Amino acid sequence: MESFIRLQMLSSQMNLEPAEESAGTRLPQSQLPGCFTPKQKNAVFVYPAQLPNGQHIKLLKTLLTSACERDCYYCPFRAGRDFRRATFEPEEFASLFMDLHTAGLAEGIFLSSGIAGGGMRTQDKLLDTADILRNKEGYRGYLHLKIMPGAQYAQVERATQLADRVSVNLEAPNTERLARLAPRKEFVEDLIRPLQWVHHIWRTAPSHTAWNGRWPSTTTQFVVGAADESDLELLTTTSWLNQNAGLQRAYFSAFNPIEDTPLENKPATNPLRELRLYQASFLLRDYGFDLEDIPFGQDGSLPLKADPKLAWAQEHLNRQPVDINCAERRELLRIPGIGPRGAATLIRARREKRIRDLSSLNTLGIVASRAAPFILIDGHRQEQQLCLL
Ligand code: SF4
Repeated sequence: MESFIRLQMLSSQMNLEPAEESAGTRLPQSQLPGCFTPKQKNAVFVYPAQLPNGQHIKLLKTLLTSACERDCYYCPFRAGRDFRRATFEPEEFASLFMDLHTAGLAEGIFLSSGIAGGGMRTQDKLLDTADILRNKEGYRGYLHLKIMPGAQYAQVERATQLADRVSVNLEAPNTERLARLAPRKEFVEDLIRPLQWVHHIWRTAPSHTAWNGRWPSTTTQFVVGAADESDLELLTTTSWLNQNAGLQRAYFSAFNPIEDTPLENKPATNPLRELRLYQASFLLRDYGFDLEDIPFGQDGSLPLKADPKLAWAQEHLNRQPVDINCAERRELLRIPGIGPRGAATLIRARREKRIRDLSSLNTLGIVASRAAPFILIDGHRQEQQLCLL
């Protein structure tokens, strides 16, 4: 049962690392088996998560070890910081996870690690754990594996064969910004290159080399505001990775200072900035927006008061509303309240009959109140009150 205490120590800071979940939560104690003592029941963190396929699961997010030889300025696990560290060996961790999984307490796993003995050695431990789970324990559930700085091509390839998702934490958008956060990480060599390798393996390897016949998705994470970077810098890198490295998703984590780190006196980042970055990144990935379309201010920041799609529409569609009955898909996607699914449904529906009013839009899964100021129906505007979110 001591292992559960270690699991608590390793997973308690993982809320700093957004992955598939929308919000972290401690697993309800009532769901833990009765053989656990109250202290042990307090020991596991599981997060409600939504997978890329839309499925909702209980995701265990944890590290293999909280020991780390690096000294990233924002990180609670940095070398020399005084706190009690914990470590699992691959076999031991796989067995513990399977106990939780078999008991129905964890349906998926996100596994990362501090760096101990170099990036290659640490990556080997993560791969060994994944290998034991898949090939010895017969685990078929969701597995998100972190790629360590310094991992080699063959290790990245092995990760793609074992995981449903692989990720590399960029933390910052470019070399100069990263140097202000993580002096011992090389932006291109350590971080960008493994993401490019994943893309290269995907383009060149036969599909059967992927886990379960499915190719793993690729993600990254940024610490927002810690290096005084702009939103433009973050989204420039995100957009480049979307197009050149097959990145499926960027996660943005608003900086929060941690006591006893070099950045402990730096102010926390407004969480609203994190939301605006997500909204803008989805416009780039799913809505056909280019960077030039995103309404950055002079200093490269996104407007905090309105979502970027609404800000764009207010500037461009107020005087030239879009005719909902004949607009092309790319034009529909520019209208607030219409997403990729709503646009597809609308295009299908209007093949059958013309759209006559706002209420018909609502039945198609479109937020008509948001779309109304920017559209024409039968040549007429459909004014309604604006929602700024
Ligand atoms: S390498 Fe990772 S765990 Fe280690 S200090 Fe840097 S961010 Fe923290």
